Amino acid sequence: MKIKHALLAVCAALALIGQTASAKEVKIGMAIDDLRLERWQKDRDIFVKKAESLGAKVFVQSANGNEETQMSQIENMINRGVDVLVIIPYNGQVLSNVIAEAKREGIKVLAYDRMINNADIDFYISFDNEKVGEMQAKSLVERVPQGNYFLMGGSPVDNNARLFRDGQMKVLKPLIDAGKIKVVGDQWVDAWLPENALKIMENALTANSNKIDAVVASNDATAGGAIQALSAQGLAGKVQISGQDADLAAIKRINSGTQTMTVYKPISKLADEAAKIAVELGNDKQPESNARLNNGLKDVPAFLLEPIAVDKSNIDSTVVADGFHQKSDL
Ligand code: BGC
Repeated sequence: MKIKHALLAVCAALALIGQTASAKEVKIGMAIDDLRLERWQKDRDIFVKKAESLGAKVFVQSANGNEETQMSQIENMINRGVDVLVIIPYNGQVLSNVIAEAKREGIKVLAYDRMINNADIDFYISFDNEKVGEMQAKSLVERVPQGNYFLMGGSPVDNNARLFRDGQMKVLKPLIDAGKIKVVGDQWVDAWLPENALKIMENALTANSNKIDAVVASNDATAGGAIQALSAQGLAGKVQISGQDADLAAIKRINSGTQTMTVYKPISKLADEAAKIAVELGNDKQPESNARLNNGLKDVPAFLLEPIAVDKSNIDSTVVADGFHQKSDL
């Protein structure tokens, strides 16, 4: 009997040690491209809350759209001894070396929302970004089946910007080939900034004597800049224009008729899931994946979520129903 009790006590003690070992405090460094854009503040808040509820500690830094700043912030996190890096890259092409350094220190790397190319990352979480582009173009061609289209791409160094364009072209190409849609201009907006989009749209309108019927804008921030330029020419609401992120300002524009649509990506799902994945990686567990994407160096296990197209008809049943925005704020 005594031996049995002693054995039980030993087992209990071992279980306790096991538990504390698996529930180690995971230190996460979150390197965000740019907190100046509305959506990333939401990502940060939800991610940090969830990760902390899972017992992790999170250090957050924003590079405010600067490549060098982001690299030195990541270096800094490596030196601080984080277990996991969660990176929203400003430039997905230039982080191979700093990530190699992290890997040498045994740090796990999660690419958040944007792929990091040619780097030995452990996991990628995002939305189906080609589908985002398809939704944008689809809602424009439904309303403007023929006419002059202006393509406004996102940041040229953001891998997502290319994926959005691929999706947009899937829908547009057959209509371009059939001579129904004419692309009258194609520009990419540095750092996704509205002020850059505003200038691009002003120039495009001048170059085309205002004869533009639809603008394929890749997100709400750039759509906002473009709509300012359209509005100055009395064209807001007459030219169809897409967006993405379901920013509050964009939902208001959709309601007032100056923006055609946006793509809602439930950030809470992305950020919650990312926090779980980061903690799993920190505990040397392999997170569940539903896709694999090649980043030029390897097939990266990925988890992709579904985007939702939003126009005037379904604001209430999507962003409001989800609590993403309060009805009273619209
Ligand atoms: C994101 C978009 C966002 C854009 C600008 C993209 O990588 O997927 O949701 O609007 O960056 O921050």
